Amino acid sequence: MRKARFDLDESQVKPYFELNTVLEKGVLYAANQLYGVSFKECHDIPVYNPDVRVFEVFDRDGKHLALFYGDYLKRDNKQGGAWNSSFVGQSQLLGTTPVIYNVANLPKPAPGQPALISFDDVTTMFHEFGHALHGFFSNIAYPSLGASARDFVEFPSQFNEHWALDPKVFAHYAVNYKTGAPMPAPLVGKIRRAAKFNQGYALGELIAAAELDMQWHALPASAPKQDVDAFETAALAKTGLDVVHVPPRYRTSYFQHIWSGGYAAGYYGYLWTQMLENDAFTWFTAHGGLTRANGDRFRNLVLSRGHSQDYDTIFRNFYGKDPDIRPMLEDRGLASGAN
Ligand SMILES: [Zn+2]
Repeated sequence: MRKARFDLDESQVKPYFELNTVLEKGVLYAANQLYGVSFKECHDIPVYNPDVRVFEVFDRDGKHLALFYGDYLKRDNKQGGAWNSSFVGQSQLLGTTPVIYNVANLPKPAPGQPALISFDDVTTMFHEFGHALHGFFSNIAYPSLGASARDFVEFPSQFNEHWALDPKVFAHYAVNYKTGAPMPAPLVGKIRRAAKFNQGYALGELIAAAELDMQWHALPASAPKQDVDAFETAALAKTGLDVVHVPPRYRTSYFQHIWSGGYAAGYYGYLWTQMLENDAFTWFTAHGGLTRANGDRFRNLVLSRGHSQDYDTIFRNFYGKDPDIRPMLEDRGLASGAN
């Protein structure tokens, strides 16, 4: 259906997404345009694998801000998926500056060949780098206040994904790896339209998984041992989510996030932060989009705060109002722009 309705062929777009170009002229470029930070690759810093690239991050005043490690290529002994973490966190008390890394599992090209990636992979790179920016800009005294809660931490990362499709950023990195030609407009249009494909299903399975998580973790400690399937069926029925064609994203028996992954009673955080980030992006759009003034405001009021304030206070200080769910629905193509 995706191919029939949107006619998006991955092999047509991939030549425009070369890994190192996406990183330097897309991900790092967007951060430079928004926050004034700059990056210089370091070849004298030890790495745990020769594929890892290290960049020194300089602040808008030219001073050292952080180190960034990009470990994007797949290896046989590497855990799957993509994630952000830190070797060293920022702390005024300890006098430390951040050392942050992004990991992915993009296919390693043959020697001399370019690493061509999908637009999903491009989005993931912007996502993980949004976490990295949150780490770079942390400006707090105590290490214990550096990490954000589950229902806030995906706000900066999902927010950063928007810049992948910003016209200025996109034109800067999405160039044919052979010819340097920009991506033809019809192809760009297809990518934009395909982003709204099947979002009713995607939202349904996320809500079902979030409800299932919450109901398991709302059981009191005194509750008897449950029949897993019966509990799951009842939990979904109770919230009107027992829709046979849209099962929860993860069934109870393999829902790793909520048992050992640290998301117990927190899986809703993905959706909650989508509401926050889409609304925040609406603020950016209303105020001129990709500008240093907007970036500095977001950095000062959101990204630098860590866990040092209540999150609703952080959001209201940035936006001047409570978050609104409508921009998230519009972003998914589930609501029109008009009120
Ligand atoms: Zn994330």
